[in-house]
Amino acid sequence: MALYYNEPIEIVGGKGNRVVDANGKSYLDFFAGILTNMIGYDVPEVREAVERQLATGVVHTSTLYLLRGQVELAEKIARLSGIPDAKVFFTNSGTEANETALLLATYARGSDQVLAMRQSYHGRSFGAISVTSNRSWKNNSLSPLNVHFLHGADRHLAQFRGMPDADYIAACTDDLRHVLATAVSKDVAALIAEPIQGVGGFTAAPDGLFAAYKEVLDEEGILFVSDEVQTGWGRTGSAFWGIQNHGVVPDMITFAKGLGNGFAIGGVVARGDLMDGPQAIGLSTFGGNPIATAAANATLDYVLDHDLQANAARTGDIIIGGLREAAGRLPVVGDVRGRGLMFAVELIDPATGGPAPELAARFMEETKRLGLLAGKGGLYGSTLRMAPPLTLTEDEAREGLGILVTALETVNDEAR
Ligand code: PMP
Repeated sequence: MALYYNEPIEIVGGKGNRVVDANGKSYLDFFAGILTNMIGYDVPEVREAVERQLATGVVHTSTLYLLRGQVELAEKIARLSGIPDAKVFFTNSGTEANETALLLATYARGSDQVLAMRQSYHGRSFGAISVTSNRSWKNNSLSPLNVHFLHGADRHLAQFRGMPDADYIAACTDDLRHVLATAVSKDVAALIAEPIQGVGGFTAAPDGLFAAYKEVLDEEGILFVSDEVQTGWGRTGSAFWGIQNHGVVPDMITFAKGLGNGFAIGGVVARGDLMDGPQAIGLSTFGGNPIATAAANATLDYVLDHDLQANAARTGDIIIGGLREAAGRLPVVGDVRGRGLMFAVELIDPATGGPAPELAARFMEETKRLGLLAGKGGLYGSTLRMAPPLTLTEDEAREGLGILVTALETVNDEAR
């Protein structure tokens, strides 16, 4: 695995929305372990919940026995999902959550045909990597599934350039119909999609596209799986689940990362009939273990009790607004995009307008020097991705924005 930065950072401590490295240097964390530390570091509510569970002596039993914390968490997530008659199955990660969703969907539909989105990332297990199309993150091309990749977040292609939303959505939907008409088997199991593509560089389909896709899928009973590993829990500010920004109620939602605030937990919430079928065997014995579910219950309660979705909207607006303002005078910034506390800056070579991965690398070093952690991504490695904890304060939002703009100015000056 390649580590970030010329000299990798060793993180040895954390408090609030900051971490400390082995040299005692403090960083405002705008990547939060790739959206994992959703409510920051050393949160008393989470620590106490985990300690209470440890004190019972039960660290793990298995999926064979009833676990009160797991049932409570499942009931909360089912209620929040908006999916009718929803049921939940827990895993240890987002990859396993997607693997489970793909197993459920392909079994339920009796088909190995799956639809996924171009530039997607869903994990690297055998099933999840099959629906991943981003080659920088794809370590092989062997697939147990028959996968067709759809358009959605690739408007930069010449065939779509300059199209208004409605025309683009019509063109993509037409393409979906064509894919279905030419599929080898009539039955396609599911579409799996990220409402905002995380690893893909926070690229997104325009509002309305997934609703249009859902209409076509419904005609054939094809299931819609929303991968909310990055976009869930109010991250986008405007909705609790990213897919709600599109007005779509999916058949399944997969989740992970932020829910445990650092403890390993993921899962699937799906329509009861999909979960109850004979195919619904669990993926592993370990998912939803008592320690992870204690952490997750405390984290989810914290998010809801403090209305962190509203905080994501408020603090995200400060940062995205500030970045857009700065972008106007920085030719190196090709695009600023995002929603709530999930925002990205795409860097371009000012001379050619093309990707600029070496400038992104410079930005990373500069933000490190200034005391802020950010992420990288996108098809060409020239997108800077940021997703601070949902607990970010307005002061921290302004502080972080100041560092980002200073680093962008430095990179812009050097690129001239
Ligand atoms: N889906 C998405 C959208 C992701 O961003 C990721 C992780 N980056 C995964 C799935 C895989 O999750 P995990 O790393 O927890 O297995």
